[in-house]
Amino acid sequence: MPIKDNLQSIRSQIPTNITLVAVSKTKPNEDIMEAYETGQRIFGENKVQEMVEKWETLPKDIEWHMIGHLQRNKVKYMADFVSLIHGVDSLRLLKEIDKRAKACDRVINCLLQMHIAEEDTKFGLDQDELNHLLNSEAFKSMENICIKGLMGMATFTDNEVQIKREFQSLKKTFNEVKQLLPECDILSMGMSGDYMLAIEEGSTMVRIGSSIFGSRNY
Ligand SMILES: *Cc1c(COP(=O)(O)O)cnc(C)c1O
Repeated sequence: MPIKDNLQSIRSQIPTNITLVAVSKTKPNEDIMEAYETGQRIFGENKVQEMVEKWETLPKDIEWHMIGHLQRNKVKYMADFVSLIHGVDSLRLLKEIDKRAKACDRVINCLLQMHIAEEDTKFGLDQDELNHLLNSEAFKSMENICIKGLMGMATFTDNEVQIKREFQSLKKTFNEVKQLLPECDILSMGMSGDYMLAIEEGSTMVRIGSSIFGSRNY
């Protein structure tokens, strides 16, 4: 199906208060423009270089979300335009984002990525690491980052009971973090295969790629 039809069908399924991030990684500018023309303005990428190239050539009212695993030495290339970084999973990375944001005189919105899947290939903080980060003096002194919420990826499985359980654990942590950080209102969970489940479990932001743009060839 054409991209615009895919988008229309997804939008008709998800409540209007859920934010849709169109994951355009590996996809060409023409595909992004097709989505743009239907009104889509939020796009997600997982490689800094690719996101920078797209940002340079595409309309400037697009909000770019970095959804992938991020290396510290890449933060500087996107610090002046990135609108939300989903995959923050260490204090060291957060310090670098704070530093680069300060150099551009802005505050960068971030989500802390939690490890909820059973696979050990997926990045993210565990509960102890999260507590440690939030209670650290370094974190409390940062002025150029804003923690807007949490992000997580469920295990890649057909077992809906397991996926549900993982989303529920993330939602629970999210509620706890909200008590501490009032500006925390984004729960980024759900992809093409599991976004309806994620929404049932309290997601406020879904990251959907292949169901919009078709499968990816790497
Ligand atoms: C690629 C990717 C997505 C989108 O995956 P689809 O299954 O194509 O919807 C979502 N989140 C992250 C972090 C990704 O890397």
